[in-house]
Amino acid sequence: MRTIRAAERQVVAPDLALCAPCEAELFDPANRRYRYPFITCADCGPRFTIIDAMPYARERTSMRAFLQCPACRRECDTPGDRRYHSQTNSCAICGPKLWLDPVDRGIRGGSRISGALQSAADLLLFGRVVALRGLGGFQVAVDATNDAAVSRLRTRQHRPAKPFTVVVRTLAETHGLATVSAAEAALLASRERPIVLLRKRSAVRLAPSVAPGIDQIGVMLAHTPLQHLLCELVQRPLVMTGGNLGDEPAAISNDDAKIRLAPIADAFLLHDREIVARCDDSVLRVVHGAPVFLRRGRAWAPLPLRLPIESSRPLLAMGPRRRNTFTLVNGADAYVSQHIGDLDNLATLHYWRVTLAVYQRLFHLEATVAVRDLHPGYMPTPLADDLGLEQAIAVQHHHAHIAAVLAEHGVTDRVVGVAFDGAGYGDDDNVWGAEFLIADLAGYQRAAQLRYAPMAGGDLAAREPWRAALGYATLDPAAPLIGKALTSVRPEVERVARQQITQQLDAPLTSSMGRLFDAAAAILGVCAVTSYDGQAALELEALAGNQTAQPLPFPMVRGSNGWILDPIPLLAALAERRDRGVDVAELAAAFHESVAAAADSLAARIAADAGLGIVALGGGCFQNARLLATLQARLEARGLRVLVPRQLSPNDGAVSYGQAAVAAAQIEWR
Ligand code: ZN
Ligand code: ZN
Ligand code: FE
Repeated sequence: MRTIRAAERQVVAPDLALCAPCEAELFDPANRRYRYPFITCADCGPRFTIIDAMPYARERTSMRAFLQCPACRRECDTPGDRRYHSQTNSCAICGPKLWLDPVDRGIRGGSRISGALQSAADLLLFGRVVALRGLGGFQVAVDATNDAAVSRLRTRQHRPAKPFTVVVRTLAETHGLATVSAAEAALLASRERPIVLLRKRSAVRLAPSVAPGIDQIGVMLAHTPLQHLLCELVQRPLVMTGGNLGDEPAAISNDDAKIRLAPIADAFLLHDREIVARCDDSVLRVVHGAPVFLRRGRAWAPLPLRLPIESSRPLLAMGPRRRNTFTLVNGADAYVSQHIGDLDNLATLHYWRVTLAVYQRLFHLEATVAVRDLHPGYMPTPLADDLGLEQAIAVQHHHAHIAAVLAEHGVTDRVVGVAFDGAGYGDDDNVWGAEFLIADLAGYQRAAQLRYAPMAGGDLAAREPWRAALGYATLDPAAPLIGKALTSVRPEVERVARQQITQQLDAPLTSSMGRLFDAAAAILGVCAVTSYDGQAALELEALAGNQTAQPLPFPMVRGSNGWILDPIPLLAALAERRDRGVDVAELAAAFHESVAAAADSLAARIAADAGLGIVALGGGCFQNARLLATLQARLEARGLRVLVPRQLSPNDGAVSYGQAAVAAAQIEWR
């Protein structure tokens, strides 16, 4: 193992949003950086995404390509100047250049900065798609008020429904798009400038195709000078989404973008400052007045989190297959990577490797222990072989979810962990996802679960909610619970699925809460087939809104290995009421209340029996604000201490940090 001197490891600053003094200069015609798209100071601008190596200095960033002019150098050398020692200092004379490259669709380019920006703005106003080189990767932009333009982008990006993010310049503009609470406004305008999910206004000046079928909209305030300039020129909200096709990571180099984004963009707004590390925007929503991460990236990565246990050995926690992050641990410092994505394609696997190399280089960390998922074949575990580490520790996915919540709160006690999630490999070879664990950082015991149901097609069930409904329907053919789930399914497809279940072929037993949400959505006729991850649950949550409802029966029964939550009466009640014509929104609300009520009584029962006073909530289903807020309030009303994810996402983005916490506990408590 390489010894690391503490002095060698320095904090690497995340990228910082344009500060107010720089923004004022950007729009001041008398300032020498008027409308200069790369204006920065010692307090703002790119950091993590342009740093090659530490310690932080211009020659070890991609700014080394630009020699400062005398005026810039003077600022940089003058103590007390806002740009004293600013490593990113530049101006229109000496700094990066911006230009517009049209795709050959009869569009003329503009080479001078103002020309390029004005041409890009004109194209946007004409409903064209402009790809622009952002801070941590390419983005594609389109006029968010032009439905034809947004729909065209959806067709070109093969993205039929997944909601787009909207960028505006000022907080005042966000009030026209959504209802914005004080906490949400603070988050939007924070230095970090994340994407914030807000409740969309009904009569809103936005194309319906921006966020179809849901009441939420992701909004971000402009955070780079380039975004400010574009927004100021077009004077309307812009859709800005990742510059990629499918699930691949966004392009970062001009050449790559011009190849991969050619089918999407009508023009490219390019510059010549290289992006060293790709980093997506962070996404949060406010629940109960407190921010919850949905994706942790720009402005937070690569700041470390603390672990409550110092690890005597440097660790690499590989993270899960979906929504991957990895975590490198040195002592009690856990460097959780930015969101990397689903490791289902070569481009994302490559991104994983490159990002690991970036973190190893920046933090001088060489792990000796790999921490991986319990399933040896799941990506990214096989990548560990190439790294040749001395030892591997396997961690169950939902134990990692709960451990992540404990660790970020510094809790080393035994707790009741409620993991409501999509899917994770269980220690009985089944697919887990609604588990009640009695757990501490080092280990767990499964105290309760959702009743197993077969999911025909395995992973396919996560994209086609009718399969989840069918799985439950086969458990109890006497219960008429299929509702509207199969109305749009072709009979032969249904027949194959039923065969898979009876013959137990590619129909894994699953206790996933995500699939239960899917089943409910399908039975209610809300969503039978999805086009993006979590769509059914999002639509169900949107439908439920703030409507009050009484819980439906969702009993717990005593099984041989603990409690089992039986969803059959709940699903049957939904189907029966739907058939009777009860309002779907009321039923969606009742479903949420039922899950919260059942989880509350079961967690309280387990806590009482085991003499525990803390309940930790983790797993992707707790991205659902209504579920999280309701369950938390119920448990707290009983006097239990409730831990919820704050510094990382409830979803799989936190799993690598949880894996690291488990491994540290297993190593140190042994
Ligand atoms: Zn600044
Ligand atoms: Zn200059
Ligand atoms: Fe998970």
